Amino acid sequence: MSDRRPTSVHIREVGPRDGFQNEPELISTPDKIRLIEMLSRAGYKRIEVASFVRPDVLPQLADGEEVLRGIRIPDDVELMVLIPNTRGLDRALSVRDRFHAASIFVSASETHNQKNINRAVEETLSDNEVMARRILAEGLKLDAVIATSFGCPYEGKVPLDRVLGIAERYAEMGATEIGFGDTTGMANPGYACEFFAAALERLPGIELTAHFHNTRGQGLANAYAALEVGVDSFESSFGELGGCPVPAGSTGNIATEDLASMFEEMGVDTGLDLDAVIAAAREAQAVLGRTLTSHSIIAGPVDWTGTLASH
Ligand code: ZN
Repeated sequence: MSDRRPTSVHIREVGPRDGFQNEPELISTPDKIRLIEMLSRAGYKRIEVASFVRPDVLPQLADGEEVLRGIRIPDDVELMVLIPNTRGLDRALSVRDRFHAASIFVSASETHNQKNINRAVEETLSDNEVMARRILAEGLKLDAVIATSFGCPYEGKVPLDRVLGIAERYAEMGATEIGFGDTTGMANPGYACEFFAAALERLPGIELTAHFHNTRGQGLANAYAALEVGVDSFESSFGELGGCPVPAGSTGNIATEDLASMFEEMGVDTGLDLDAVIAAAREAQAVLGRTLTSHSIIAGPVDWTGTLASH
């Protein structure tokens, strides 16, 4: 065990944004509100609840304002929204008192950024700078996310120095938390160690958040590797929902219940009530009308012996 391993971690639930946006069917606003409220009572202190992408591009999340207005959540839960551009920021600010943190983003890979938002990285960063000033002026917490931090499906490995250079730009803009996304699941535990050890050294005082995907089955191993070098902030999705399931049929996000189960069994406190997270994931199964595939939904938590199959 590494002496840098934290004794407790934050896990942000991203299912209501990163998960719901990848569902082929539209989830009704009341169903979203009910699921977010269930999650908000499962011990989370951070939930990503909406994205203000153009409704014609992403109809799955077109009801961001209604969701934010409708949810009733405990005071100590920080709600984050994803802001793609100035128009999205205008929409978010129309419900300014309903959330706490706003997240801006770019892809570290030039090609992925072009394909994702049709802009150059440098152009995106200067737009982000303007948005960052407005977000901070509103008294909101500024988060930044760097997609394809561990590799790009078009360009391959993205140089570590390039990713950390972008992270430094975000720190200069006033971001207090920076998330590193493994958008198409290209990280491995060795590189996750190297990456976060370097990032922690170069970005003192900034909270660094690991957002791994399980595309190639290495999501939990990567989270463990990041934990061992001192990362104490993670993002995951209940029920293993969403997270860029490309190519079709592959998985995306790591499941919150699996991540929390691993950490808790290792003695790392997540603050989560695992039964409550699994109950929310089961409710999502009912809403979506399909079976979700997280390991903990199928097997139950380690100490939940009542549901274990006999052999
Ligand atoms: Zn994701």
